Amino acid sequence: MTEPAPSGRALAPNAVKVAAQAKVNLRLRILARESSGYHQLEMLLLRVELADTIGVRRTPGARSLDVVGSVDEALLGPVERNLAWRAATTYFEASGMAGGFAIELHKRIPIGGGLGGGSADAGAVLRALDAMNPVSLGWPGLAGLAERLGADVPFLTCESVYALAWGRGERMLALAAPPGRAVALVVPPFAVQTAEAFGWVAGHDAAGRGVREHGAPFTAEALGNWDGIAAVACNDFEPVVASRYPVIADHVAALRTAGCYVAMLSGSGSTVFGIEGVGGAVEAAIRALPVASDGTRYIHTRTAVRVEPVVVIE
Ligand code: C5P
Repeated sequence: MTEPAPSGRALAPNAVKVAAQAKVNLRLRILARESSGYHQLEMLLLRVELADTIGVRRTPGARSLDVVGSVDEALLGPVERNLAWRAATTYFEASGMAGGFAIELHKRIPIGGGLGGGSADAGAVLRALDAMNPVSLGWPGLAGLAERLGADVPFLTCESVYALAWGRGERMLALAAPPGRAVALVVPPFAVQTAEAFGWVAGHDAAGRGVREHGAPFTAEALGNWDGIAAVACNDFEPVVASRYPVIADHVAALRTAGCYVAMLSGSGSTVFGIEGVGGAVEAAIRALPVASDGTRYIHTRTAVRVEPVVVIE
């Protein structure tokens, strides 16, 4: 039986599920490199409808994580390294919540694709556990835990569908989402390791190439519509990742030619995404892309206009 909640929550749920939505970076600037080796970032992050599904159940003490779906075991790695697992153990340690957990994770978001799949799972687990905790941590309690799990996790734990984030992703400004639009995702058959990509950026600058313009300051209002977004859309990883994987530039060019309004790399890649232009027809755009025989996948989704809520199962 669940203890009565001092916060007034009479009966906390024992099992919940939540859609862990992926994100795209509409802007990603790499700023200063700290002595720790980490980088200060500026990111414009928007959730998309493509999501993993996470079910979390409280147990008397046992801890488990089952991953289902078409997953490359090699990319997935050991359970203890999985961000969903790390989020759950971090939450239990920090909150002192009794018992254990059984997590079932249905993967749909490509792994190592720059879509924040692992971070979305971590954010969803934090939200799920907090919904089941008789004494929930709320915000900013969850933010403190999210920050320790990775730069995309604070955003993918918060209740905003769209935000600007700075630092290591922990400082955020929630924004009103732009109108929903179709999105084409081009997922190459290779993953990019984020830590490695940060190293490529450092080398790129040392070689004196790719001096990056920061442009004029922008306003929150300008970021609420697609014209404003298109004016600031850029990703500092794109030139360096494309110089190692020239197919990235081909995908960006193909999406633009096919009529996408914004077409760029997400995160450190390897996924390239295109936002439909006025008049829609992103499906036609996808059909116009060259047929991939190398294992490249095309995924059709939409930009999200809300964060999917935690749903109580029992
Ligand atoms: O945040 P995430 O865990 O995805 O980061 C993966 C790696 O990318 C880190 O281990 C670090 O090497 C690098 N990184 C960085 N600066 C950041 C975020 C990540 O150098 N702000």
